[in-house]
Amino acid sequence: MGGLGVPALWSLARAGARRLTLVDPDPVELSNLARQVIYRPTDIGVPKVDAAARWLCERFPDVKVERHAIALDASNAASLIAAHDFVIDATDSPVAKFLINDTCIATRTPFVYGGVVGMTGQAMTVIPGETACIRCVFETPPDEDEIQSCREAGIVGPVAGAIGEMQAGEAMRALRAQKPLLSGKILTYDASGPSRVRITSVSPRPGCGCGAWKQEHRESHAPGR
Ligand SMILES: [Zn+2]
Repeated sequence: MGGLGVPALWSLARAGARRLTLVDPDPVELSNLARQVIYRPTDIGVPKVDAAARWLCERFPDVKVERHAIALDASNAASLIAAHDFVIDATDSPVAKFLINDTCIATRTPFVYGGVVGMTGQAMTVIPGETACIRCVFETPPDEDEIQSCREAGIVGPVAGAIGEMQAGEAMRALRAQKPLLSGKILTYDASGPSRVRITSVSPRPGCGCGAWKQEHRESHAPGR
């Protein structure tokens, strides 16, 4: 419920999502107020999921909100994720991103990955067993000391806002049974120079446990293709 989760939440509520589950262990901090605009000064110290639920309830009373002020981890990921139609990864830790990837593959839950470091953001939608997953692209999480976390590199409001809104758009397409625009594709938004948006197709990696490569291979060798 930070730089990506807040714009995604707002966008989903506007687009007509009716049931949302929020997962975040952190309380609202003073430094969040400038960019994460749904929080107000009296929310400081309150769990972000509670403050966000209060904000939603005031503006979108039809939305049913479930709150979990806990960190997603290996003990709770499967039960939290399996109960849902679509997952938005708005986390800032590679460990959490790989856990979301692996749990969504195991429970066959589609999800959209999102990440922002400095002036660059990325998004990619994964349809388990059909399109490339995060491990097809990155294989393993980076070493701890290699990680240039959002906290160190800074996170730029407009980039996070754009990626979060895009993630919500992917979720709404999937929920309306339309193909998400970024399934099998990774979008990179680099705002450091003249704004650049690049969309690159990513192929499933042979040997990746997600099984998407086998599926693609089977389809491309099917009779009549
Ligand atoms: Zn994979």
